Amino acid sequence: MSQRKKVLLKVIILGDSGVGKTSLMNQYVNKKFSTSYKATIGADFLTKELLIDDRTVTLQLWDTAGQERFQSLGVAFYRGADCCVLVYDVTTPKSFDTLDSWRDEFLIQASPRDPESFPFVVLGNKTDVGEERRAVSAKKAGQWCQSNGKQMPYFETSAKDNLNVEQAFEVIARQALAQEESEDFGDGGFGGDVLDVNGMMERENSSCAC
Ligand code: GDP
Ligand code: MG
Repeated sequence: MSQRKKVLLKVIILGDSGVGKTSLMNQYVNKKFSTSYKATIGADFLTKELLIDDRTVTLQLWDTAGQERFQSLGVAFYRGADCCVLVYDVTTPKSFDTLDSWRDEFLIQASPRDPESFPFVVLGNKTDVGEERRAVSAKKAGQWCQSNGKQMPYFETSAKDNLNVEQAFEVIARQALAQEESEDFGDGGFGGDVLDVNGMMERENSSCAC
């Protein structure tokens, strides 16, 4: 019976302003890329339904909507997250250096039950720019992902050329599902996130500003 339940997975996407968080989500969910810079997409999250093995899951991807500069995203933004995606721009070393603070900020705000095992996935974006403009090596990024207790999966992506985007989100969804299931197990199977997805979609559509 539990296999028929629709599962909602909340995924938070963090990283400095301009690294391509909104573009990655837009490429994955809407198959679109725009070069015009927009700090906000006018919605708190985008959703995408997908099949993982034989389970239908709804990924709810939370964007910072341009507020990342103020680091004032609030507890509601982080609450109930099942996976955290950390994005940096391979042409901007500073965006890589700040991954530590984004991870720490997430752990403080979301305060997951077991911080050591909470799933993070790291994306090095804008790889389409070519080797001459790359400023952070894949090796350096890989080392950071290993040095954080549990090994974090790492992908080099391009939201512009749609490189590795589908693959990255597949792993993100799997990590989120595993996390959700481990939490369900912990509270005797009554996970709080199995919900009326249809009702949620209706509400979401009626308030969508895009
Ligand atoms: P956010 O602030 O992290 O949400 O970043 P945006 O998605 O708004 O992207 C910031 C800028 O980088 C925009 O001008 C995008 O067009 C550009 N951008 C995003 N992803 C890529 C990419 O993969 N390659 C290139 N070349 N530019 C990108
Ligand atoms: Mg954005």
